[in-house]
Amino acid sequence: MDMQLTLSDYLSGVASGTFSPAEVLYHYQNKAKEKNTDLFAFLRFHDEYVAQHKDSAFSAPLRWAPIAIKDNIMTEGYISSCASKMLEHYVAPYSATCFSRLEAAGALMLWKTNMDEFAMGSSTEYSAFWPTKNPYGVDRIPGGSSGGSAAAVAADLCLAALGTDTGGSIRQPAALCGIVGLKPTYGRISRYGVQSMASSFDQIGTLTKTVADARILLGVISGYDPKDLQTSEKSDVTSFLTPSLRKPKDIRIAVPNQAFNEALDKRVEDLFRKKIEKLQTLWYQVEFVDFPLLEKVSTVYYLLIPAEVTSNLARFDGVKYGLQEEMQGCKNLLEYYSKVRNDGFSNEVKKRLLLGNYVVTHENYEKYYKKWLQARIWAQREFSKFFTQYDVVITPTTPTPASKLWEKLTNPLLMYLEDMYTVTANIAKIPAMSIPMGMVEDRGDQLPVGLQLMGNHWDEGTLLDIAEQIEERS
Ligand code: GLN
Repeated sequence: MDMQLTLSDYLSGVASGTFSPAEVLYHYQNKAKEKNTDLFAFLRFHDEYVAQHKDSAFSAPLRWAPIAIKDNIMTEGYISSCASKMLEHYVAPYSATCFSRLEAAGALMLWKTNMDEFAMGSSTEYSAFWPTKNPYGVDRIPGGSSGGSAAAVAADLCLAALGTDTGGSIRQPAALCGIVGLKPTYGRISRYGVQSMASSFDQIGTLTKTVADARILLGVISGYDPKDLQTSEKSDVTSFLTPSLRKPKDIRIAVPNQAFNEALDKRVEDLFRKKIEKLQTLWYQVEFVDFPLLEKVSTVYYLLIPAEVTSNLARFDGVKYGLQEEMQGCKNLLEYYSKVRNDGFSNEVKKRLLLGNYVVTHENYEKYYKKWLQARIWAQREFSKFFTQYDVVITPTTPTPASKLWEKLTNPLLMYLEDMYTVTANIAKIPAMSIPMGMVEDRGDQLPVGLQLMGNHWDEGTLLDIAEQIEERS
């Protein structure tokens, strides 16, 4: 795979005069358009944005770095459709804080990337427009929901990208496309201006070619924002900026026994075991531990998520927000709402809306929703205890490599299993990342898979340090 220019190489190359920002910019503008006809990673190109912002961005630190933005992140004056028919023509009236910060730092948005509609999915096949293809096999999924961002970075169509992660949507596509995906602690990055899927789980993060690049971007977009009260004035935004020099023998790594289960593909398991052995030979303290939580989290996730989705998507009624259609033929407003929501949302979104409405009804609230909320709190406590003994927990990022397009669509449970390792971090609101773990062979293709690292609340520093020490770059 290409993966030619990293963000840090770009910044040092520009500083030393090895190449000019203009040269790199035009290269990516052309390459992205050319390759998009194979990969379908982008929904829109924004040459007009580049023309408008070039002058102001030139002297800022990121010096025109071309960064791709997932389409559920509001970009003022530009369509932000969440890959849904419901918002197909919606022009954002303001920008998300994470995007404004990138802009202020001198990055240029050249494109908006494809995704599963409203970020619900694990393959980008649920985009209402078209599926994105995996650069390692164009008949394969890139993962999702940030599949457009992951494919674009892996195919070197941009330097880096932003995505969102509610249950794995950064880490899972990063793993399947062989790149680095970081989902920080909940509250580390402002969610202001990012279309909510499930507000208490959503987090913005980065898709990059290296761990060092994730560190740079995190430094730019994180920190307190008065517009998102989950961010904190006290949150420290400097401790993770420079690597600390901790020795492997002082780092305690936990491997949950429950990570080895029947859903884990044998080839992925072999790579994971090899990785563990390698860490042991490098003198890291690696311990296998019992972590029964891992078996329960997918259930907790898939019951809580629809409830929040239902509430967040209620506003798309064709009057206040969303697709507007002819009222002709509708007997009353209710019929109009149904028509708009039926035409505007596709099946996966509708399925979650139905389930979400079901779990929050008067009869079911205590039986399901409240019970699973309590389970979430319990899970969070268990995690806090865990991190008094270990620095990071590692698992594979996904149980399998990238499947062929449409292969799992007929079996939603298999699709949901894709998230069995990643949802944990969103339930516990802790930081987690995926780094490349190696390649497996599947029906003639060599496909990347990822290693997931989960860390303690607000401790992106340790997570990034360990990831940087053990990342293997080809
Ligand atoms: N695949 C998960 C889901 O469908 C995660 C989505 C996400 O992180 N946005 O819910």
